[in-house]
Amino acid sequence: MNIILLAPPAAGKGTQAKLLENKYHLNHLSTGDLLRQVASEDSELGNKVKETLSSGNLVSDEIIFELIDHYMTETTNHQFLFDGFPRNILQAQTLDHILNEKGDMITAVFLLEVTEECLKQRITGRRLCKNCGAIYNVTEPSLKPKNESICDKCGHELYQRDDDNEKSFEIRYREYKKQTEPLIEYYQNQNKLYSIDSMGSIEEIFHRITSIIEKEMIK
Ligand code: AMP
Repeated sequence: MNIILLAPPAAGKGTQAKLLENKYHLNHLSTGDLLRQVASEDSELGNKVKETLSSGNLVSDEIIFELIDHYMTETTNHQFLFDGFPRNILQAQTLDHILNEKGDMITAVFLLEVTEECLKQRITGRRLCKNCGAIYNVTEPSLKPKNESICDKCGHELYQRDDDNEKSFEIRYREYKKQTEPLIEYYQNQNKLYSIDSMGSIEEIFHRITSIIEKEMIK
């Protein structure tokens, strides 16, 4: 089973990915996480990626393909949950090609649908744990940590992503509309797209996704 989570920024891809990864033992491949790792390195590439991430623009396909190739070759679990990849048509075609070469393919693409207003609100409140990667939101009562700067799960410090502000959001959202939204039609044409109303609670959204997986994909 190879799954793609397709969604605008701050729609809850990362949160759902962690839950799906655990339930179905998938290999969670987040290009955003891989890029943040590169950006934390003190090198020419690290500084370049850091700058692009904070701006809200997309990183070049060349860098993405190199990261993906390295990750997919090194890993042993080949059932992937793609989070934040592909983000444009060329990336989708390349992914199809990589999987085809291995006699594999994409099983399903879940499109997480959230209104722009709600995304904007979510993005400014999002906080992440530096240690375990847990995701919180200080503007949503059900997702608030007990203490605004400490992780409930492991007690480490929480931080806000450099690109989680209104200015970067405008650019990230514009890039999503221009480059990523065309993937909806791409996967509809392959009969693989499932739209998920993602305005409810984490549990409700997870249930909507898993019901489809259980009904359509796990025989
Ligand atoms: P995310 O963690 O998915 O929200 O991604 C954070 C940022 O990483 C995006 O705003 C882009 O700058 C960059 N990024 C992540 N995945 C990709 C990708 N597949 N192609 C290009 N840029 C990406």
